[in-house]
Amino acid sequence: MTRFVDVATLRRIVSRVGVEEFLAGMANTMREDFRRWESFEKLARVASHSEIGVIELMPISDQDRYAFKYVNGHPVNATKGVSTVMAFGALANVDTGFPTLLSELTVTTAFRTAAATAIATEALARPRSGIAGMIGCGAQGEFQALALHRLAGVEEIRVFDIDNAAMEKLQRNMAAYPSLTLRLAKSPAQAVRGADIVTTCTADKRWATILTPEMVEPGMHINGIGGDCPGKTEIHADILRAAKIFVEFEPQTRIEGDIQQLSDKHPVHDLWRVIAGHERGREDDQQVTLFDSVGFALEDYSALRYVERLATDLNEGEEIGLIPDLDNPKDLFQQVHPGEVARCGKDAA
Ligand code: NAD
Repeated sequence: MTRFVDVATLRRIVSRVGVEEFLAGMANTMREDFRRWESFEKLARVASHSEIGVIELMPISDQDRYAFKYVNGHPVNATKGVSTVMAFGALANVDTGFPTLLSELTVTTAFRTAAATAIATEALARPRSGIAGMIGCGAQGEFQALALHRLAGVEEIRVFDIDNAAMEKLQRNMAAYPSLTLRLAKSPAQAVRGADIVTTCTADKRWATILTPEMVEPGMHINGIGGDCPGKTEIHADILRAAKIFVEFEPQTRIEGDIQQLSDKHPVHDLWRVIAGHERGREDDQQVTLFDSVGFALEDYSALRYVERLATDLNEGEEIGLIPDLDNPKDLFQQVHPGEVARCGKDAA
C-alpha cells in the first residue's frame, strides 16, 4: 500500500514532533543527502511557463529511491486568496517502481526551503552572525526566520515587506518564539543595515532589484530565495558580480536563479562541496557570500524521506490503494471486469 500524508496528517506529525525539532530533523536529513551528492541522478526541473506563473516537475533518484515534486509559482495568486507556492510529491522504490509515499508538500516545502537557507547560512556566514535582515514576509517568512534563529544562531531579525499586514502577521506568529527579537523596518535599507545575514524572500514575476549595491556591507551573507524563475530576480547584478556565489545545482540555477543576469562563464561554487567539506565557503570576514537559492529536487527527496520516516514511526497517514492490489499481476482486467464491478457496487451499497 501507499502511505498518504495530507495537510492534516502533516500538521499532526509536526505537532507531535515539535516545530523546531521537525525543522532540525529536516536539516539533518538534508545535510546527509548533500554529503552524498554524487550518488544521485540529477536533472534541472522541467518547467511549464505562463505569463503569470510557472508549474514545475522536480525528479531525482539514487540507487534505492525515486522522488518527484509538483510545484507552482504564481506571485499574483495572493491577490486571489490562493497561495503563491503549492506542492505535492511522491517517493517510490527504485527496485520495483512501487510508490510508497504520496504527500502534501506545500507546508513541507516551506520547512525544506528554510532548512536549506539555514544550512547554507551556517556554511557561509561569518561565525557568530547574530543579526539578520529579511525582505519579504509572506508564506515562507516564519519558516525562514525560525530556521535562521534555531539552526543558524540568529538572535535578531529586522523584517520588511511592502505589505504591512504581512509584516504584522509575521510578528504575531513569531511572538510564540520570544528568544528571537523581531523588529519591523520601514524600508528594505533599514532592515538590512548592520545585518550579518540578509534574506530576500519576495514574490514578483519580473526583473526586480530588492537588494541594491549600496545596501550591501562587507562580510554580509545573502540568501536570495525569491529569484527562482526565468525573468524573476531580486538581487542587483553588481552585487552578484562582487560576491562569492554558491548554488544548489548549477545547470538549473543558471536558468532560474539571480545569476541568470550574469554571463554563463561567471564562476559559481557548489554548496554541496562546502557541506561535504571538499571546499571552503567564504575566504575571509570581509567577503560577501551569496546563496542563490532556487530549490532543488535533492531537498525535496530529503523532505519526503524525512516525512515518510516520521509517518511510519508515528503510525500517521492513511494506507491508500493508489496501485491495484492484484493476486495475478497479469490479470489487471479483473479490476474492471463487469462481474467484479457489480460486486464492488453491492459491497459499497
Ligand atoms: P508570498 O506571495 O506568500 O510572499 C511574498 C511576499 O513578498 C509578500 O508578502 C509580498 O508583499 C512581498 N513582496 C513582494 N514584492 C516586494 C518588494 N518589492 N519588497 C518587499 N516585499 C515584497 O510568497 P512565498 O510563498 O513567501 O514565497 C516567496 C518567494 O520565495 C517566491 O518568489 C517563491 O517563488 C520563492 N520560493 C523559493 C523557494 C526556493 O527553494 N528558493 C521555495 C519556495 C518559495
